[in-house]
Amino acid sequence: MKTRVATVWLGGCSGCHMSFLDLDKRLIELADKIDLVYSPFADIKTYPGNVDVVLVEGAITNEENEEFAHVIRKNSRIVLSFGDCAVSGNVTALRNTHGIKEVIDHVYGDLADGRPVRPDEYSTVAKLLPTARPLHEIIKVDAFLHGCPPTADEIWFAMNELLAGRIPQFSTVFLRYG
Ligand code: SF4
Repeated sequence: MKTRVATVWLGGCSGCHMSFLDLDKRLIELADKIDLVYSPFADIKTYPGNVDVVLVEGAITNEENEEFAHVIRKNSRIVLSFGDCAVSGNVTALRNTHGIKEVIDHVYGDLADGRPVRPDEYSTVAKLLPTARPLHEIIKVDAFLHGCPPTADEIWFAMNELLAGRIPQFSTVFLRYG
């Protein structure tokens, strides 16, 4: 039976997912071994049950992310914190030293070309949390893959370990920035 794999995009730039696509031909090999049951790469709206492995990109930055993180945890056996925004907050957490109001005032007010349209005026836009948090501060995480983004080789190593039933252990060689 194939391993049920999901990938999730929370508070990140999607660069980690783009790096996943850099697996190139290795994606074909991967497709023989996994069922991709949820991902921004696939048009699936509801997070399924019985996920074997999920790669979660991005920090927890709003109420929707926080709620979804618990759904992910409840329905997944192995949760991998995928890239530095999930692991540490990274770029997404740069706002943490400023208040939400100050950030929105500046980005959507001071820097607006025309009439300011503020996301906090719409109930359909998820409410920001006071600070962006790394994933493991919200839910239990089983493995961490550093990098901004992690390289395709690092993702390949992690996927192969996970598919072999092992939690990937990274040497310090993998712990690099830039
Ligand atoms: Fe983007 Fe880097 Fe964050 Fe990945 S870790 S979502 S590439 S900013």
